[in-house]
Amino acid sequence: GRPIVVIDAGHGGRDPGATSVSGQVSEKDLSLALARELKDQLVKRGRVRVAMTREDDRYLTLDERAAVPRRLSAAMFISLHMDSAPNPLARGATVYSLSDIASDTEAARLAASENRGARSETTGGNVEAMLSDLAMQAQRSASADLAARFVDRSSGRIELRLNPHRFAAFHVLRRADAPAVLFEAGYISNADDELLLRSPAQRSRIVLALAQA
Ligand code: ZN
Repeated sequence: GRPIVVIDAGHGGRDPGATSVSGQVSEKDLSLALARELKDQLVKRGRVRVAMTREDDRYLTLDERAAVPRRLSAAMFISLHMDSAPNPLARGATVYSLSDIASDTEAARLAASENRGARSETTGGNVEAMLSDLAMQAQRSASADLAARFVDRSSGRIELRLNPHRFAAFHVLRRADAPAVLFEAGYISNADDELLLRSPAQRSRIVLALAQA
């Protein structure tokens, strides 16, 4: 009876994601640590059931990740990532929800980089495509609501970027078939953010905000 939340630790296996500014940690390891801690927190609170797309260091395609919430008819899908930028001063967390049109060029670039390796989809003009467009619209608005709730629970408690709720066409969110957001917990290309994200005590503040949302 309780709704299912699927947590996706970004990257894994032969795909390390971004490397931290110190060169000591990879995005795939920090996203898995955060995913495990969020799972434990949600299980402890007891309001939802939790599934993970991966619980160890393994490679999964974006379609394999998105198939998990579809198979389980999940109520919510959250993909966890660590951000990285050429500007070493960039820091703070961002929540992305699905849109065909990116909110800004940086969001578009991020989606393109996270979508690497996914096959592109074509849309037809038939009834089936129209119906799936309607379902997609409902999914998008529920995802945007979820992202807004994340920002609301996070503000004042964790470092957020300016305009922390952004939009872009993430393949893994589009295919999830459930309200879905992609959370970038902070920039591991920034020395201060790297320290925060490597600290279990600091991660627990993020986990609490996510679990409440
Ligand atoms: Zn990533």
